[in-house]
Amino acid sequence: MIKIKVSEIFTSFQGEGPYIGTPATFLRLYGCNLNCPWCDTDISTYEILSVDEVFEILMTQMEFNNIRILVITGGEPTLQMEELKRLIKEIPDEIKIQIETNGSIFEYVPEIDYVISPKEDKETVFKNYYKYDNVFFKFVICSQEDIDEVIYLKDKYNYDKTIWLQGEFSKDGEMADLIRENFPHLENVKLSVQTHKYLNQR
Ligand code: SF4
Repeated sequence: MIKIKVSEIFTSFQGEGPYIGTPATFLRLYGCNLNCPWCDTDISTYEILSVDEVFEILMTQMEFNNIRILVITGGEPTLQMEELKRLIKEIPDEIKIQIETNGSIFEYVPEIDYVISPKEDKETVFKNYYKYDNVFFKFVICSQEDIDEVIYLKDKYNYDKTIWLQGEFSKDGEMADLIRENFPHLENVKLSVQTHKYLNQR
């Protein structure tokens, strides 16, 4: 039986990125291959569940709340991609599936939408994914260097799709100022704010 390490399953509003404000059911998987200094993911507990058990819990929450978007997040969900592929096969077609990943493990599944937030070796991550239509990029901004890197990638790869820029939470106001100074007309750039944290939501 195929098992998945699950941190939590819950239904809420998407708090950040391209789908902000949309009601969704979240499947948060346990574990990450990176160690970002600002990471706020709770790694204290997880449950080991079968694919069938996860499917049942998801469907119950989605049907009860009339939800049509499933967000698979982490940690780093692609660490359990083989298990996830089994789960994704079971999800009905009318449910849109979105995965939130740091992109460091190249795993492309055409049926799902990607929100990629590159944390390390950002150019390799960008190069691997930027050509796909169903991929959105969201960069965490901690400094001018992070913005310079986004400008470099946009120019080098002639990327004119929208990129979401999200100030690191502890200084997101300061970073919003920096983003505005660098992109005065916000050309193909949108500000992402972690609204769920301000609203005390998950
Ligand atoms: S990639 Fe995301 S989950 Fe992993 S350590 Fe960094 S912030 Fe945390």
